[in-house]
Amino acid sequence: TTFRDLGLEDPRLLQAVASQGFEKPTLVQSKAIPLVLDGHDVLAKAKTGSGKTAAYVLPLLQAILRRKKTSSESYIAALIVVPTRELADQVAKSIDSFSAFAAKEIQTVKLSDKVSDAVQKALLSNTPDIVVATPSRAWKCIESGALSVEKLTHLVLDEADLLLQYGYNEDLQSITGSIPKNIQTTLMSATLTTEVDTLKGTFCRSPTVLDL
Ligand code: AMP
Repeated sequence: TTFRDLGLEDPRLLQAVASQGFEKPTLVQSKAIPLVLDGHDVLAKAKTGSGKTAAYVLPLLQAILRRKKTSSESYIAALIVVPTRELADQVAKSIDSFSAFAAKEIQTVKLSDKVSDAVQKALLSNTPDIVVATPSRAWKCIESGALSVEKLTHLVLDEADLLLQYGYNEDLQSITGSIPKNIQTTLMSATLTTEVDTLKGTFCRSPTVLDL
């Protein structure tokens, strides 16, 4: 199987994948990418090192690039929620490398408590396509009105089990209460615990569970 076989057809994304030396998709990528491209909610059991980041980033980028072919409207389309600042850094870097050949069309902002509220507000007011943040930061910015979520089409919870272990459940509930109900959700989790199952119930319509 190739990335193209999975439905990833934007040449700029295929070029980015090739330039990173990815020869073929990993297991979670080959299972998740077609489902996400098809608009399904997905909960995948995937740990660090499995290629989980590309599994949700690539279909997300393709959806955004496709939309931009026909519409010039700009809005924040995706919120990626992660448990730690370090993972936020890594995910933002991955997005930048996967969008390297479409850099003008994809803007990503990483929210972090290292950056002042004023700077974050300024970054968000440029209307990026993708925001990466920890739950507390994301919720603070939604609550203050700095982060507009009315038009979000994609929500990702990465390392969902850690999000819960780190006590972010309340922030996650606040976030889900404020975003569009018909949003497409991808959950990545190293373990499929009953707690993660509860998240699935809150965030997903009828997700496909990939117990890999
Ligand atoms: P992740 O599980 O998303 O943290 O990815 C782990 C590492 O695997 C990262 O350094 C990726 O660059 C790399 N990687 C992801 N997908 C592939 C692939 N299909 N082929 C080779 N390396 C990959």
